[in-house]
Amino acid sequence: MEEPSSLFRRAAEHAADYRRSLPDRPVGVPADHAALTDAFSGPLPAAPCPPERVLAELVAAAEPGLVASAGPRYFGFVVGGALPAATAADILAAGWDQLAFNAVTSPAAVAAETAAGGWLKELLGIPAASSVGFVTGAQAANTAGLAAARHQVLADVGWDAERRGLLGAPPIRVIAGDERHGTIDRSLRLLGLGTDVVEPVATGANGAVDLESLRAVLRADGPGPTIVCLQAGNVNTGACDELREACELVHRHGGWAHVDGAFGLWAAASPTTRHLVDGLELADSWACDGHKWLNLPYDSAFAFCARPDVHAAAMSYAAAYLVGSGGAPAGADLTAESSRRARGFAVWAGLRELGRDGVAALVDRCCALARRFAEGLTAAGFEVANEVVLNQVLVGFGDDARTDRVVAAVQADGTCWAGGTTWRGRRLMRLSVSNAATTEADVDRSIAAIVRLAA
Ligand SMILES: *Cc1c(COP(=O)(O)O)cnc(C)c1O
Repeated sequence: MEEPSSLFRRAAEHAADYRRSLPDRPVGVPADHAALTDAFSGPLPAAPCPPERVLAELVAAAEPGLVASAGPRYFGFVVGGALPAATAADILAAGWDQLAFNAVTSPAAVAAETAAGGWLKELLGIPAASSVGFVTGAQAANTAGLAAARHQVLADVGWDAERRGLLGAPPIRVIAGDERHGTIDRSLRLLGLGTDVVEPVATGANGAVDLESLRAVLRADGPGPTIVCLQAGNVNTGACDELREACELVHRHGGWAHVDGAFGLWAAASPTTRHLVDGLELADSWACDGHKWLNLPYDSAFAFCARPDVHAAAMSYAAAYLVGSGGAPAGADLTAESSRRARGFAVWAGLRELGRDGVAALVDRCCALARRFAEGLTAAGFEVANEVVLNQVLVGFGDDARTDRVVAAVQADGTCWAGGTTWRGRRLMRLSVSNAATTEADVDRSIAAIVRLAA
């Protein structure tokens, strides 16, 4: 049997070879799902297997089904790449196998989260006293933020949501834009509020909440427990709600303002785009992803709350055998997970690698490349359907059927990968520029392929 060091080195070498191959690899090769499943399937082995053979079998089985989404010409969803130092840190996190439950189970994991959390708040302009839960994605961050919201708006009327649940509780109003992300609805389901509770607010031309409509919806009912879900970064258009005015409206009404800023909150990290999320610091809770625009490896996101006591009241648990860190809420006090991996190492490493200037440059570069896409495709005679304010571009190629055909042709071609979406009743190609490795040449090559395939 090989030494673990040789096995680990080989695994890291595989990962590095793969990364090196990304710029030249077809993006989004059509996978043969049956063959892939076959490669992994077979009866449960009875006998043990030497680790080096396991590694070889895993690589052989997985390789044909890997999507080059970490590469520079993958523009699907809002995926982002994975920074070298952050990836290396995640390899270490696996090797160290730390339990990031609290400062007793891993002082280093909690210290990294504390430091990285401080850096994140500074970069995003979130109040320094806020708590940060290191979670799996913006889905989990939305759930944590809305759990804190649920706690506080019910506490305001004398109801203890954690102890008594929602049976018999005073009703909660939930107000959200009609172009909110689908994860908001799932969080509401998980929190026992359900989706019917949502009072939708109309959105303006580019998909940001219309303030007059928000004012009207808020006024439609008296004061009482009220949660308002705002958004920084419409998943189709990139549009950001006018957070300053919106938060002021919500607070005048006595409500809780939650911001889903999965990728759009990063606008705050560049002086060029900061105005798009002006006033974000007025909100009560925020969800933001690390694995999208910050280019951290999956999975990594942040649940921020302006009130650490409320955040912990909603999310922490206590048990007799748990020896707490004795300090401020940290680690598992702020997330839905109990045992959890040490996500903070990769966050710390990614931020250390980029620095403040590097994060700002990443945001600026992706926005400039999105505009380059919009200009190139407009010049080729196609229609850009959204106002490109951030890193998202929606393109129409005529009628819905033709647009779907172009999207399918681009995905099959492999030069780049773009998804399709339905926005305002129309089928559109959706390009999201979120990868730190994408260059102007990548965008130009992708435009050329799209134009060729649309012809
Ligand atoms: C991606 C996204 C989410 C969900 O984030 P996950 O990281 O996939 O959990 C929520 N809201 C918005 C606006 C998003 O773009």
